[in-house]
Amino acid sequence: MITSTISKRLSSQSFVFTRQLSTKLPLSVTINLPNGSSYQQPTGLFIGNKFVPSRQGKTFEVINPSTEEEITHIYEGREDDVNHAVDIAEQTFKSGVWSKVDPIIRTNAINKFAQLIEDHAETVAAIESLDNGKALFAARGDVVLAVNYLRSVAGWADKVDGRVIDSGSSHFSYTKREAIGVVGQIIPWNFPLLMWAWKVGPALATGNTVVLKTAEATPLSALYVSQFAEEAGIPAGALNIVSGFGKIVGEAIATHPRIKKVAFTGSTATGRHILKAAAESNLKKVTLELGGKSPNIVFNDADIAKTVQNIIVGIYFNSGEVCCAGSRLYVQEGIYEELLEAFKVAAEGVKVGDPFAEGTFQGAQTSQNQIDKILQYVKIGKEEGARVVTGGERIGDKGFFIKPTIFADVEESFRIVKEEIFGPVITISKFSTVDEIIEKANNTNYGLAAGIHTTSLNTAIDVSNKIEAGTVWINTYNDFHHQVPFGGFKESGIGRELGTEALDNYTQVKSVRIKLD
Ligand code: NAP
Ligand code: MG
Repeated sequence: MITSTISKRLSSQSFVFTRQLSTKLPLSVTINLPNGSSYQQPTGLFIGNKFVPSRQGKTFEVINPSTEEEITHIYEGREDDVNHAVDIAEQTFKSGVWSKVDPIIRTNAINKFAQLIEDHAETVAAIESLDNGKALFAARGDVVLAVNYLRSVAGWADKVDGRVIDSGSSHFSYTKREAIGVVGQIIPWNFPLLMWAWKVGPALATGNTVVLKTAEATPLSALYVSQFAEEAGIPAGALNIVSGFGKIVGEAIATHPRIKKVAFTGSTATGRHILKAAAESNLKKVTLELGGKSPNIVFNDADIAKTVQNIIVGIYFNSGEVCCAGSRLYVQEGIYEELLEAFKVAAEGVKVGDPFAEGTFQGAQTSQNQIDKILQYVKIGKEEGARVVTGGERIGDKGFFIKPTIFADVEESFRIVKEEIFGPVITISKFSTVDEIIEKANNTNYGLAAGIHTTSLNTAIDVSNKIEAGTVWINTYNDFHHQVPFGGFKESGIGRELGTEALDNYTQVKSVRIKLD
């Protein structure tokens, strides 16, 4: 059956309805939001600017992590759907309707896309909190960041250029930057909308076409916002979303012979696998945004009150499900006790619970898997002999909520110090000298981010120069700007997102050399 209440915007587009299909799942369902409103959620795969059922008609359940109840089912893509999406994306790319137009057309379309998302900002934020479990204020922030980023890349679309190279009077030599083709994108569940924007934005701005897989735990916001593509002026086939599982849809993207580049955000283990799959299929270009175990370093001269706020944002924001979370806290011995006490008080003041409740800072963990993993690490930490300063347990028996947790008396060899937990769990230890902290901070295979808290400019610059990380925050944390590149050293990734660097990842340089007679 089809919901007859499908919104005007949805029905104004040429949707393929389920009427003729054997499956019972409509392509749009009414979802009631905890704020009392309701909206129409597309459930199909988004291919060629239409929502369509998956070819095999399979569906999967989407869970609200705050209640553990089902929100809806959506269609589950498979390899044949990826092939279909790639066919359409390739046709669109080759036709030139997006890749070869005057780039100002892409600027205008992406700007309009951003505007349409902004016009629905409150609904988008609510969808994100419902599906991911994050606090509503954080979801609202994600929408702002996503919209800003789309506008920023829209502005870059018509500013991609090359160089004229002086190679002597016998030749005229120049370079130009060209789109790569069909790009595959695989995104995680911690920032579903924002990662959609970070991936789709620069790929589209530079004229590529996209086949994107959302995370199975959080597919809703990307489907919702993609419905605005056609109205924005994005041609059919430029943006395609295949919801589904990593081992099926993700694998099909990573190995597809006609996908020319893959961009991935997620765990280092899966990133490594994708790199291999890309190499063994068609040597597609790969960018990876992976895990971290980032050090957050506090020197004796730091402002304690401000630093504690930054530590809280560094580890409890987004329920700690942040790749660059400041999960290893190192405090210089002169202020260790004072800072730990202030931090404990602040951590115990963090409001955890219903993402939609006024004042909630930390919502639910996103999935059963994730809360199980975090609680397992809490158990490991206790067994390793670390002291629970606060937290260390689940809240209630419905919904995936965990108390903000601090482990003290840890050793560098402990698993809770070395491995990514991806939850609201931090370890704290003491250091005395700069040499000692640099050694400890860099003693990891990861290198995504680091925090430094000091009032000394010399210390800030000296330590940031010595840290092996793609981003160093000084007297701040988890502090993003769409023009500032983000990515990892070491096993935290390959390539950069945001800034002009992101655009470079989606173009390739062509050198042209003309012989002059
Ligand atoms: P993951 O496996 O890296 O998942 C990220 C994305 O990759 C999802 O869309 C996933 O699909 C997909 N995927 C999984 N296996 C794949 C494969 N063989 N080929 C292609 N794509 C594949 O992460 P996870 O299992 O959800 O979480 C495990 C841990 O990873 C977390 O506890 C956390 O430590 C880390 N993580 C890091 C980030 C980050 O931003 N750096 C984000 C998420 C998770 P499915 O959703 O269907 O699995
Ligand atoms: Mg969910």
